[in-house]
Amino acid sequence: MEVSRLQPCIQLQLSNEEFQNIIDKAKDWALMHGISIRSKEAFNKNQVQVLPFTLLPSAFPRKNFEKAKNIQVLLNELIHKVAHNHSFLSNSLKSTIDADPFTAKLFSIYETVHKEGYGQTISVGLLRSDYMLHENEIKQVELNTIASSFGGIATVTSRYHKYILSELGHADKIEHVPENNPISGLCKGLTYAWKLYDNNQAVILFIVESITYNICDQRFHEFEIRKLNPNIKVIRQSLRDLVPVTKLGPNNELIVGNQVVSVVYFRSGYEVEAYPTDEEWSVRLLIERSRAIKCPSIQYHLAGTKKIQQSLAYPNALDIFLKETGIIKEIQEVFAGLYSLEFNDEGDAIIEKAKADPQKYVLKPQREGGGNNIYNENIREQLESMKFLEERTGWILMDRLYPPVQKNYIVRAQNEPFEKHSLSLFDVVSELGIYGVVIGDHENIMYNECVGHILRTKPSNENEGGIAAGNVQT
Ligand code: ADP
Ligand code: MG
Ligand code: MG
Repeated sequence: MEVSRLQPCIQLQLSNEEFQNIIDKAKDWALMHGISIRSKEAFNKNQVQVLPFTLLPSAFPRKNFEKAKNIQVLLNELIHKVAHNHSFLSNSLKSTIDADPFTAKLFSIYETVHKEGYGQTISVGLLRSDYMLHENEIKQVELNTIASSFGGIATVTSRYHKYILSELGHADKIEHVPENNPISGLCKGLTYAWKLYDNNQAVILFIVESITYNICDQRFHEFEIRKLNPNIKVIRQSLRDLVPVTKLGPNNELIVGNQVVSVVYFRSGYEVEAYPTDEEWSVRLLIERSRAIKCPSIQYHLAGTKKIQQSLAYPNALDIFLKETGIIKEIQEVFAGLYSLEFNDEGDAIIEKAKADPQKYVLKPQREGGGNNIYNENIREQLESMKFLEERTGWILMDRLYPPVQKNYIVRAQNEPFEKHSLSLFDVVSELGIYGVVIGDHENIMYNECVGHILRTKPSNENEGGIAAGNVQT
């Protein structure tokens, strides 16, 4: 297959010594401004290391970038409506629930609160819709409704790329790096929700993993909230920590220790590992039953599953939610081919097609956080092994996207090989994420904004693996 290419934003002409200097400077800037992460291999609370990042901004065509941004408020509205449509969620997820115990648990919480009546009708969505360029068009990879990450780091990385262009003598290119401040927009959403709750003493609760590596990104949110309103207190707890100290008050207030929680911001809870015992599931249910405003609520969480993404790609699915045919068309244009693996003729046919041509597809389970999808020859094997099992309906197939390749330098914590091959450029591909904020209840949307972007870049020969980056548009 012919690989399409994008021109890099600048060509570097540096001596080896100059190159070493610039890498050192870039790393120090990144560490000093929070493009950082705790080491997974040698976890130490006192240390962070640079998150892998691209030395230079990656190029992305302006027309496609604008299209992705412009469509975000429409996607916000769509997902809000999907999250509030009980029959669409139930019908779409029916076979997935039978096949996938994790989605089944989430769904049973949803059914419980739906039947009981919601303790809180308002939900906050901090969304990130991800795209790859494919044959010069943007195609949606997925839409995240939970723990949409890197809003803080993306904000800093855009500043970094302006800095490095200037250091490299290319200040004239800075104007091509778009303004980007997702952290502010995301946190305005959280503080707006805090105000809606209308209790000055109530805290915002971040639900985090027991051990958090991605500390820099999450703390940006906390610090930004405090900057926007120093009266808002933020607390951080894992689901496990919450087990012994959480209860409901007389009016279904969520009480942690002796503090009332106004807003719950989930940065964990989308992964199986967050629920090692039934106690964590009980806490999740308690939270969903409570009056606290959830980001996301259980219905928003489910609306972000891969199965719902696939269900929305059926030809008439959007008609249920949106009236204007122009808008429906605009959204459908960014959908890639998505296929259900139900037990019917279509399901059987797509399985045969994918087995014959696996490089044309990605096989996805109902999981988040990266590293779960199946590619190439492994698709054949996985499909073969579950062809006659219920398990298959827990997965979806998606057309594989092949974004254009460009050259860039990747700066990592362990840089020895790069320093030895100091002037070699990597072939990389990028994935654009657009951040959206939507707040509302089953009747109204009261807040709907597009708040920024991120361009994550990875070596083109890796199936997954994101690297924080900013972008210059050409
Ligand atoms: P997750 O929720 O785990 O992030 P994604 O659907 O975003 O799941 O998939 C993870 C990664 O896999 C993406 O960031 C992208 O690099 C790659 N990927 C996903 N879907 C496709 C696709 N259709 N074509 C090419 N790569 C894909
Ligand atoms: Mg995801
Ligand atoms: Mg993703």
